Amino acid sequence: MNRFRERFQRFMIGRYGMDQLGQFMVTAALVLIVINLLIRAALPSMILDALELALLIGMYLRMFSKNIGKRYQENQAYMGMRFYITEYWRKLKFRFSEGRRYRIFKCPKCSQKIRIPRGHGKVSIHCPKCGTDFVKKT
Ligand SMILES: [Zn+2]
Repeated sequence: MNRFRERFQRFMIGRYGMDQLGQFMVTAALVLIVINLLIRAALPSMILDALELALLIGMYLRMFSKNIGKRYQENQAYMGMRFYITEYWRKLKFRFSEGRRYRIFKCPKCSQKIRIPRGHGKVSIHCPKCGTDFVKKT
């Protein structure tokens, strides 16, 4: 067992190894495998099989790759995308919770967005940007 580990460590010298993108690929493959267990239809199951295999092969190819710069770039691209998606999701959730407590009005003159708490009936709104007053129902 120790000799195997030693040999593996020697094999991995100068190779890229695991990163966040690799972990994502393993997780995605596992999720697909679980979904595949629940699917009875032949064709979707075959497609999922192919995807699982592609993800795992891709993961191993990246892990054993000696082109470290390229793999690093791929991981950076993945991290950037992940950041973009989580930020987008966070904003979406924020807007949803805000949307229940506030209404957003646009100034008729300069189209500045103004946030007004709900449930105050008709109110006069003063635009902080251009000074226009307009009446809206909250
Ligand atoms: Zn305005």
